[in-house]
Amino acid sequence: MFSQDLVEQFKLRETPFYHYDLTRLRETIKVVKSFAQEYDFDIHYAVKANSNEPILQEINQAGFGADCVSGNEVKLAAKVGFAPQSILFAGVGKTDKEINEALAIGIKAFNCESVQEIEVINELAEKANQIAEISLRINPNVDAKTHKYITTGLDENKFGINQIDLPELVTRIKDFKHISLTGLHFHIGSQITDMKVFQGLCLRVNEIQNWFTDHGIHIEHLNLGGGLGIDYLQPDEKAIPDFETYFNIFHQFLERKPDQKVHFELGRSIVAQCGNLISRVVYVKTGINTNFAIVDAGMTELMRPALYQSYHQIDNLTSHSDLRDYDVVGPICESTDCFGKSVALPETSRGDIIAIRSAGAYGEVMRSQYNLRDHHEAFYSQL
Ligand SMILES: *Cc1c(COP(=O)(O)O)cnc(C)c1O
Repeated sequence: MFSQDLVEQFKLRETPFYHYDLTRLRETIKVVKSFAQEYDFDIHYAVKANSNEPILQEINQAGFGADCVSGNEVKLAAKVGFAPQSILFAGVGKTDKEINEALAIGIKAFNCESVQEIEVINELAEKANQIAEISLRINPNVDAKTHKYITTGLDENKFGINQIDLPELVTRIKDFKHISLTGLHFHIGSQITDMKVFQGLCLRVNEIQNWFTDHGIHIEHLNLGGGLGIDYLQPDEKAIPDFETYFNIFHQFLERKPDQKVHFELGRSIVAQCGNLISRVVYVKTGINTNFAIVDAGMTELMRPALYQSYHQIDNLTSHSDLRDYDVVGPICESTDCFGKSVALPETSRGDIIAIRSAGAYGEVMRSQYNLRDHHEAFYSQL
């Protein structure tokens, strides 16, 4: 991924900054698209994973739709060129302002997470003289077997409507004249690497869908969310997630009704491996039992290690000496500002360029200004 020429370009820039390999992004998109087409699945990219415009443009050009979780994401997707009818709006706390904006743009559908939200959308759609299409985000009570902070499909999560509330909801929905219920939505978590989890999800979705059919409600589309994990341990060898197995599981186990549309909302699996956080070593400090490589990037640029104890591979792009162990830490005044402990790196010195890998998803979007940090523009490369 890092040619000598690219590393020379990195050296000329102020650090830290995000680097995106658009060639890798295109290769990934191509694979997603080919397997999704094979089974006639629709892809809506989860904009929250990375909302940089050049990346959104690549994804839009591929013909994918957009899955948004805020009014600003909806507006950005529309501005970048996603057709309004390819935009979905999810989230537990949509405000009146956000709902009105989405109605004005004419998005495809709202993924709704509570009865009260549906009531409000009904009222606002009435004022706008529209019928709003909605999907119900249902909590299937499936364990995603991922980090507890990114699991969203268990009964006690704040997300989704619990099955126990469905009978009342279905009765009430009949009174809402400005709502059209057309779909069911599920999203059980992120960075899911155990493919059996998706099989379990399919079986629950089949049961839930049958419940709706038994209650005389026809479901035009099923939205299975995102969540496919990536291989943080092998960013080069396993750069493209196993979309083939992933889609094949849904093809095999999901009971799809005739003419039913099936959607996925992939975020991380599309963009994570094309992004790297590029940083310079400011100081090397020898501790009692360890050496510290202090870099100029911190948890303000990439929060995942501090937030989810996540692992990112770290490469020294400018040294090729013998390996030594370093704790790679940032400059922020927090002990959790650490990218990796006992990381084996070629002997590292002040000025070396470091790449923190697999940082294209939930990286730059979560950047903060804490400690009044500078922000440097992202750098895009392609072959
Ligand atoms: C975050 C999110 C996604 C994307 O999840 P990934 O794990 O990045 O694929 C999809 N749908 C919803 C509703 C989300 O909140």
